[in-house]
Amino acid sequence: NSMGRPIPGVDRAATPDSIILTTLNDFTNWARLSSLWPLLYGTSCCFIEFASLIGSRFDFDRYGLVPRSSPRQADLIITAGTVTMKMAPSLVRLYEQMPEPKYVIAMGACTVTGGMFSTDSYSTVRGVDKLIPVDIYLPGCPPKPEAIVDAIIKLREKVSRETYDNYRDKLREGNRFFTLNH
Ligand code: SF4
Repeated sequence: NSMGRPIPGVDRAATPDSIILTTLNDFTNWARLSSLWPLLYGTSCCFIEFASLIGSRFDFDRYGLVPRSSPRQADLIITAGTVTMKMAPSLVRLYEQMPEPKYVIAMGACTVTGGMFSTDSYSTVRGVDKLIPVDIYLPGCPPKPEAIVDAIIKLREKVSRETYDNYRDKLREGNRFFTLNH
């Protein structure tokens, strides 16, 4: 992969992927997937399952995940719990404060579709992907800690395949989101 930037004297269309830049891309992806730092974000019952991951039984530090209290130190947000309309601007603000590249796991039925609030609620966001771009959808009410580990493994696989070009496309998608919904 050529990281999407023009290289002087190189016709990208006629030149196969560079071994050096492909290796550099693989290395940065490996560094990212080995140190995903999630923001501590929980609004209701799903967060109890998320919190249990931090203990010794599930030991999610082994994946390099170090929970952070500041969005400026996090590159992953696991939306654990119901997102209310009142909470929506704060969630978007937190997401915007996270540095790029950043990732989102929508955890639990409430954040994936609105869950039990998806029909007669005036106060609940029916799908967090209406606010921020989601990388992995994790259904369940609540998802078990093992399922969260599985979602993290799937996110790591996604990060391992990432290129500058497809990340840039994702950013465009995210910008479209904020224009429409923010
Ligand atoms: Fe609670 Fe279930 Fe909603 Fe999770 S999905 S926040 S466990 S009601």
